Amino acid sequence: MQHNPVIAASGRTILLVDDNPVNLGVAVDHLEQHGFEIAVALGGEEALERASFLQPDLILLDVMMPGIDGFETCWRLKQNPETQAIPVIFMTALADVADKVQAFGAGGVDYVSKPFQVEELLARVNTHLALRCAQQQLATRNQALQAEIDARRAVEQALVASESRYRRLFETANDGILLLDCRSRAITDANPAMARMLGRLPDELIGRRLADVPGFERIGVSPTAVEDLRKARFLHYGDWALQPASGAPIDVEVIGSFYQDVNSDIVQLNFRDIRERKEAEARIRYLAHHDALTGLPNRTMLADRLGVAIAHARRDGEMVGVLMLDLDHFKTINDSLGHHVGDELLEAVASRLRGCLRESDTAARLGGDEFVIALSSLAEAGDAERVAEKVLAAIAEPFLIDGRSLHVGTSIGISFFPGDGEDAGALLQAADTAMYAAKENGRAGYKIFSKELSSAAQRWHTLSNDVHGALARGEFALHYQPQIAIEDGVLTGVEALLRWHHPTEGLVSPALFIPLLEERGLIVEVGRWVLETACRQCAAWHAEGRPPLRIAVNLSAQQFYRGDIVATVNEALRVAGLAPQWLELELTESLTLDETDTTLRIMQDLKALGVTLSLDDFGTGWSSLSYLRRFPLDRIKIDRSFVRDLTTHSSTAAIVHSILSLARNLGLDCVAEGVETREQLSHLQRELCSEFQGFLFSEAVPAEDLSKLLRLLRSGGSLATATILPKLERLPA
Ligand code: C2E
Ligand code: CA
Ligand code: CA
Repeated sequence: MQHNPVIAASGRTILLVDDNPVNLGVAVDHLEQHGFEIAVALGGEEALERASFLQPDLILLDVMMPGIDGFETCWRLKQNPETQAIPVIFMTALADVADKVQAFGAGGVDYVSKPFQVEELLARVNTHLALRCAQQQLATRNQALQAEIDARRAVEQALVASESRYRRLFETANDGILLLDCRSRAITDANPAMARMLGRLPDELIGRRLADVPGFERIGVSPTAVEDLRKARFLHYGDWALQPASGAPIDVEVIGSFYQDVNSDIVQLNFRDIRERKEAEARIRYLAHHDALTGLPNRTMLADRLGVAIAHARRDGEMVGVLMLDLDHFKTINDSLGHHVGDELLEAVASRLRGCLRESDTAARLGGDEFVIALSSLAEAGDAERVAEKVLAAIAEPFLIDGRSLHVGTSIGISFFPGDGEDAGALLQAADTAMYAAKENGRAGYKIFSKELSSAAQRWHTLSNDVHGALARGEFALHYQPQIAIEDGVLTGVEALLRWHHPTEGLVSPALFIPLLEERGLIVEVGRWVLETACRQCAAWHAEGRPPLRIAVNLSAQQFYRGDIVATVNEALRVAGLAPQWLELELTESLTLDETDTTLRIMQDLKALGVTLSLDDFGTGWSSLSYLRRFPLDRIKIDRSFVRDLTTHSSTAAIVHSILSLARNLGLDCVAEGVETREQLSHLQRELCSEFQGFLFSEAVPAEDLSKLLRLLRSGGSLATATILPKLERLPA
């Protein structure tokens, strides 16, 4: 509401317009006497200016004036928005009706005749001032009214917007939402999500009492429940299973809230679909109890199952069997063929294990390549042995992975309840002990736990701990086993074989500690030492005089793939000052598992150094004969298991015959390992095998002993006298 300051101050300001000063003087006198404030203008132009500036409450306007006359002045006042509301009373000497009409036509509200009658003038002035005042009040009230209307309209619009916003939220909410009237207990609203959850239309819900809606029969809203909610305003009711009109129950989380509407109390129930969360929880529970790779139960679940099985067996007087196994060569496969192949192999093993079991048995993966089978409710130990045999046979079958045929063996340790332990932990420990005994026994077999094995296991444990610092403590040494040309009995070379002088255990077999070194990743470092020592020793023998001999060094797969074997070999030769043709590298068959270009390339790089390569333990494993053609080999070593049976098994003799003729065909030399008898040697001689190695001539001996032998040979001694080498210490130095 805007106030005009001049009106507010007096409400009685009058602009008097007349060109006649006498007239003006008279009028001013009268009006001022009656308390009016008077301003004057002597002509139309001046009047327009002053009116616009002063904003008088009334204008008394003479008609006849020089310049623009009264009518024109009035007309212009009415055109100007600033002045158009000011009432104009004409002062006229004219008695002509036409003039009076023209006065109203120009926008005047009244007229007074000159000369004026004072009373008439005052009456008219007062009347029009009052009228103007009333008009202004009306306008002000109108404005206020309009403002109120505008404000209401704004509130209404905001309400509509808010309602539609909340409607939209309600309609599109993922939660199912029900609104209940507290008094009638009827549903007053239900959103589409709620209807969807129940498999109904919202209209089928609205107006019904909650307990009458199928799926909610058991969920009445009691007066006390409402009272609780009224107090708390917000309550979490936990998880329910909502039964829709059809289909499986839906897991929901229910939240109640209370609020007051204009004339009713409302309970709002939110039903949140938590099936995804439940699935995630189940998945996490599953992962906590299963091995992610194979899906087999993990250690935690195995312990649970074993616990249950032990309790049953105790009650029913039955047995529980625990089979522990790991895979031979698994590390080599992982290293040489990559983890994806290792992973696939583990999955394949898991599925074969499952195939060996009854419903009530459990196969679990403990990690790495370690698996356990728990056999519940056994009648006798023989049942477990039969499972072990089944498992051995299943794992022995080649695995076809990534287009390759992989052969892995396994060794199994078995323990039983009752007898070997009272709980899961003790049984697993006993089976583990038995497994290592099985390994020591030679691979691919099983062993049943016995108390005696414990000390062996203890020993294994000690060794496994001590192997770490063995190199630094200088506990390793090399022994050398001669290799002899069969045709003329010339000593052509020696194989360097690693020995560990353990401070308390004595001399430990490499068959036992090489796997430990491999497991701990120490073989690369120790292998480098072996290479350096062997090369140095060989160079030293060469320096002592003719004839020069070859030195053979065993390489393990990790050295081949993990260390920079080519640089290591090169460096060992350089430091020792040994010509490369005198160094032979023995590669085990597990190396050749990987037929990839990497293997071939490394072999070629080694050959490029000038060293020779031989394939160790030939025939034992799975090395296919095609390797012989693909790889740049110089020699193969016929495994001692063949030599052992050579003279007693005709089938073995046949195999050896084939190997030798194939080798000749490919231009490869052959060394027969483990020759212990004259018969074996004669047989090999007839088969034209070029060299042999074995106890018949000598076992591996320390460097000094071999030095004595070399001196003996150089001084004209014969090999025949040298066959007593193990007792060399009795020979003259
Ligand atoms: P290998 O390479 O097959 O070595 C031959 C093994 O047969 C040696 O056992 C040797 O003492 C044994 N032997 C030799 N002649 C006869 C015989 O007439 N009869 C019998 N029964 N055995 C005989 P050793 O020294 O215990 O070595 C066992 C294995 O340990 C070796 O088998 C080799 O695979 C591994 N090894 C030894 N030294 C090293 C090494 O420096 N590096 C690597 N990576 N492995 C090694
Ligand atoms: Ca060897
Ligand atoms: Ca061998």
